[in-house]
Amino acid sequence: MTDLSDYQQVLTPNYGVPPTIIVKGQGCNLFGQNGESYLDLAGGIAVSALGHCHPEVIKTLTDQANKVWHLSNVLANEPAIHLAKALVHATFADRVFFCNSGAEANEAAIKAARKAAFNIFGPDKSEIIAFNDAFHGRTIATITAGGQPKYRTGFGPMPAGFKHLPFNNCKAIEAQISEKTCAVMVEPVQGEGGVRPICSTFLEKIRTACNQVGAALIVDEVQTGMGRTGKLFAYQHSGVTPDILTSAKSLGCGFPIGAMLCKEWISEHLVPGTHGSTYGGNPLGTAVAGKALEIINQPELLNNVISRGKQLMQGLNELNKRHKLFKTIRGQGLLIGAVLKEDYAGRSSELVTLTMQEGLMTLGAGPDVHRFAPPLIISESEVKDALTRLDRAYSHFKKQT
Ligand SMILES: *Cc1c(COP(=O)(O)O)cnc(C)c1O
Repeated sequence: MTDLSDYQQVLTPNYGVPPTIIVKGQGCNLFGQNGESYLDLAGGIAVSALGHCHPEVIKTLTDQANKVWHLSNVLANEPAIHLAKALVHATFADRVFFCNSGAEANEAAIKAARKAAFNIFGPDKSEIIAFNDAFHGRTIATITAGGQPKYRTGFGPMPAGFKHLPFNNCKAIEAQISEKTCAVMVEPVQGEGGVRPICSTFLEKIRTACNQVGAALIVDEVQTGMGRTGKLFAYQHSGVTPDILTSAKSLGCGFPIGAMLCKEWISEHLVPGTHGSTYGGNPLGTAVAGKALEIINQPELLNNVISRGKQLMQGLNELNKRHKLFKTIRGQGLLIGAVLKEDYAGRSSELVTLTMQEGLMTLGAGPDVHRFAPPLIISESEVKDALTRLDRAYSHFKKQT
């Protein structure tokens, strides 16, 4: 049997050593090599929105697998057209570009915004404003856009033309945006940066500021999109319309796919030859995402996200009355972060280890935040069960302090 010592010999060590090997998933449960089971409140880092092995998604994937897998962008396929139509219909967007990951979707967004600004205003309008603690992916351009310097250390030189401002700070954006700014890139809830929701006034301020200088508003919904916050996309909670939106993670519910959605005034500059991707828009990924969108964008499912989110948030607040570990519990829908008090700062990974010992998969979001991003189909009894396990894990954490 393959084990973790094999993993350590043949995989690059950039992820550290994983705690276990999983061989099967079903609904909100994961099963390990030795028959152990876990309730999954991590959802493959906000990816497995429909849980594991959803029967309708399996059927869609296998039906498509028996038809055609890959064509390249020289040829068209039905699932890609169907998915693009559905995304356009469900959002502000006029057009969609498909790729394979969140970072690629953000690369496409950056390139599209730059190209539009170049064509409309000339070469001086190229600056991208992003925010401290933001996360936009791991490619060179997206670590540059990201607001966490640790992800950039040792990988320089970085591309020019990115500027970082404090998140949720209206004065800073007002003061720093200029005629040189071609786009502002922002997450509706900073996911990796600690599950920090955006203030509605801040998002409105960014929109106004972008309008004043002719810059594009890019919302990175790679983590918040596809129902995670209780709306199909998180920007839909606000009155603000972006120019560009990026999606990935839950878009394919585990099948790799990314998308960049945009308004016509952006897409009209992406003429033939300006951008591309070999696998982007392949029939397997777009068939799966089409089915995922169809299932997720239903009132029953989105209401479940709101109800289960409230239940989990309330439950965590109850637990915290006894354990007193967290200074705040924040988030939106089923993206929730519990922020450790100063006394326990830096120890989120211990919490993740302890919940696993209770048969519960959870996540960190940086060193200080215990994060939950379960499948959106999670049931009331499963959340209840999770809270019981969390209670035990938090007790152990207190004991080992
Ligand atoms: C995960 C994430 C990304 C990167 O997605 P990949 O598919 O890993 O490239 C980008 N932006 C946000 C907000 C994310 O959460």
